[in-house]
Amino acid sequence: MPLYKTEALILRTYKLGEADRIVVFLTRDRGKKRGVANGARRSRSAFAGALEPLTRVGVGYYEREQRDLVRLSYAEPQCSPLLASRPDALSHVGYFAELMDEWAQEGDPNERLYRLGVSTLEALTEGVPTSAVARYFEYWLLRLQGVYPPHVACRRCGITLDGEPGGAFLEPGGHVFTCDGCAQGAGRDGAAGLPLSPGALSFLAAAVSVPPQRIGTVPLNARVDRELESIHRALMRVHLEKELRSTRVLRDLRR
Ligand SMILES: [Zn+2]
Repeated sequence: MPLYKTEALILRTYKLGEADRIVVFLTRDRGKKRGVANGARRSRSAFAGALEPLTRVGVGYYEREQRDLVRLSYAEPQCSPLLASRPDALSHVGYFAELMDEWAQEGDPNERLYRLGVSTLEALTEGVPTSAVARYFEYWLLRLQGVYPPHVACRRCGITLDGEPGGAFLEPGGHVFTCDGCAQGAGRDGAAGLPLSPGALSFLAAAVSVPPQRIGTVPLNARVDRELESIHRALMRVHLEKELRSTRVLRDLRR
C-alpha cells in the first residue's frame, strides 16, 4: 500500500474510541478525504498542533480501494490559523472550515476551493480585518459553486448596477439581483428583497479581481458588511437548505 503525500487543509475532526480521531481534510489535488489519526488524542501525539480547523498541513496517508477511511501517517503543520491570534479571526476559523466541508465533495479534486482556503488562512494570519476576509470568502465560495447571482447588471432591465445611486436588491428567493426601480415595481408590499448599497456593489466589484491578502484596502463600513453578510446568509440557506452550526455560534458571540 503506497504512502500518498500531499498538502491539505484540516476541516474538522471527530473523536474515535479512546485515543484516536477521525480527520476530515481537503487535499490540494484529490478532494476531500476522511482519515483515522491513530493516537491523536494522546498528549504526546505526533499530530499535536496539526489538527485545528483550517491548519495547512503536509500530510501522508494510506488509502485502500473500496474503503471510505484513509489512514493518516503524519500531518505536519505548515501554517496555523492560531497565528492570527485575534479573537474575532479565531472565532471565524471554524466557520470557514465548516463551509468548505459542506461544499467540498469527497474524492472530487477542487484546487480552486483549496486555493481559496489557503489564501483566506494567509489573509487572516497577515492581519487583514476579519470581516473583509469573511465577506470575500463567502463571495468566492458561492461563486465557485456557481450560486452567486450576477451582480453586474439588473436581471430585469439590464442596466449596469455598479454606480447606480439606488444600489441593487437580491430578489426574494435569492436567484437574481435587480436595480432599485425594478425591485420597487416588483415588491409594493415591502417584499423588494435584501438591499445592496452602492458601497456593497463596489466591494463586490473589487472582490472579483483583488486577492484576499489585499481586500483589507477596499472600503467596508459596518453597513456594507451587514448587507453583504445578510445576502450571503440568504444565498447559503437557499443552496444548503439549512443553517450552519457555526453561523449560529458567530451570531451568539455578537450578542
Ligand atoms: Zn432593473
